[in-house]
Amino acid sequence: MAKLKGLSAKVEPHYRYKTPHQIYDVKTQASGKSPRKIAEAALKKIAGDLKIKPDLSQLKFDKVRETLLGSHVLYQQYHAGKPISGAWIRVDVDKDGRVFNIHNDLVSEPAMVKARKADTKRATNEDKQLSDGEARALAIEASAPAKGDAIRVVCSDLCYYKCNGVPTLSWKVIVKITPPKSGAKERRPAEWKMFIDAHTGAILDKHNLLRFIDGKGRVFDPNPVVSLNDTSLEDYSKIPDKAYTEVVLRDLKKSGFIEGPYVTTKTTANRIKRKNRDFRFKRTDRAFKEVMVYFHIDRLQRHLQEMGFDNVLNHPIPVNIDGQSDDNSHYSPSDKDLTFGTGGVDDAEDAEIILHEYGHAIQDNQVPGFGQSSEGGAMGEGFGDFLAASFFSDVKPKNMKPTVGNWDATAYSGAEPPYLRRLDSNKQYPKDLRGEVHDDGEIWSACLWELRAALGRATTEKLVIAHHFLLARDSGFEEGANALITADKNLNNGENESAIRDVFVRRGILPNPKRRGKRAGTPFDEIRQGVRQKSNGHGK
Ligand SMILES: [Zn+2]
Repeated sequence: MAKLKGLSAKVEPHYRYKTPHQIYDVKTQASGKSPRKIAEAALKKIAGDLKIKPDLSQLKFDKVRETLLGSHVLYQQYHAGKPISGAWIRVDVDKDGRVFNIHNDLVSEPAMVKARKADTKRATNEDKQLSDGEARALAIEASAPAKGDAIRVVCSDLCYYKCNGVPTLSWKVIVKITPPKSGAKERRPAEWKMFIDAHTGAILDKHNLLRFIDGKGRVFDPNPVVSLNDTSLEDYSKIPDKAYTEVVLRDLKKSGFIEGPYVTTKTTANRIKRKNRDFRFKRTDRAFKEVMVYFHIDRLQRHLQEMGFDNVLNHPIPVNIDGQSDDNSHYSPSDKDLTFGTGGVDDAEDAEIILHEYGHAIQDNQVPGFGQSSEGGAMGEGFGDFLAASFFSDVKPKNMKPTVGNWDATAYSGAEPPYLRRLDSNKQYPKDLRGEVHDDGEIWSACLWELRAALGRATTEKLVIAHHFLLARDSGFEEGANALITADKNLNNGENESAIRDVFVRRGILPNPKRRGKRAGTPFDEIRQGVRQKSNGHGK
């Protein structure tokens, strides 16, 4: 263990400069002085150990950050009036004014001597220096934009870059490349940060600040009951290998955690970390559920964007894959995150339950606080069911298409096939209202499902997402139906108005003009006296 002359502490040396890099277990006296004064006094004591000038003239105070641990005092090293990129020192001072830790990335004096020699040589040779414009042009070229990409130079500054440890005068340039929407499937946006030698024009360093990379995953798509068309499977069954699908987990961050542009499992306790980004698990591994939520939410979000909705929940939603032990899941409008339950079949093992819950998040993002009225709450449940059923309809056996949660429901449903809820009920408004949002949601989802049959998947999904923008937090069924008609006028010149009216008039949500405005779902009196029925207890 290396030692310091100026302080009693333990030391990890810097790999290149061999100066102290990490200084910990520091023993100093408590002090009532300001953290900055305390830090400066400590630095003067160890300047010899750090091999920097003892008057600290190369350091420029940056800031003091306050945290639970105390004050963190930051300095950056300068050379010839310009900052040296990545040359920082941080002194950690506890609440009693004791220095307890120091992190050092400063360039040591021997390397600074080399930098000064290089400066002098260039000055005598009168080497020409790249202009700002030349540096920007080189940076754009190095970003390799494709035809049609939007290009923006975010900044260009002269600084020193540590090239093999020696500060070298460089242009730091950041270039943002945004591919056009139509090509978004193939190419990704990039934010290139690069250092260009201010004399030779050589690219000394270049990396994408958007740290996304694909990973490997294994999922149910959407679940084993559907993909094997086997309703005999239950939670304790041995699930055959062919129920699993290997998938690409797109644009993961380099952290090794399951997180990307639209999903993060950061609220999951003890979440999985794999630096090689190989997340091919099976349901016996808890991390399988992290992969499930990532893959299915990410794919649905990209589907929304392909439909043209580029501002609907277009950011990472935190997901806790097993944060409750009952057979239920929820979206929290205050924390804006999802939590899945582990009762019965774990909810995050059924992609239809995942999409249903994500539906709540979508709606809350479009209309913050949506669902204040009980009808609004039912519309939220109906929308989530529609979202899941519509998305997976093409891959489902015929008898399961108008239902959701076929795998989840094996734990509690006696029906064949098992299901959580249906989208093809004959429920009418208002006579079939039961005052329970999931049950009443079947009125709304049945309308959307009928629309899908009449107008097709693409048109209906687009109308359904779009009409949310016209709703308010206390909107109900009738307002929703009218908003769908308005959205259709906007998107399709009203082509589908009669089809939409037909569905909602038959369901009793819009008054019937042929019956002097009476509703198909009358009489009302029975509703007023109606007995509220209990739900099945598996709300979701
Ligand atoms: Zn729900």
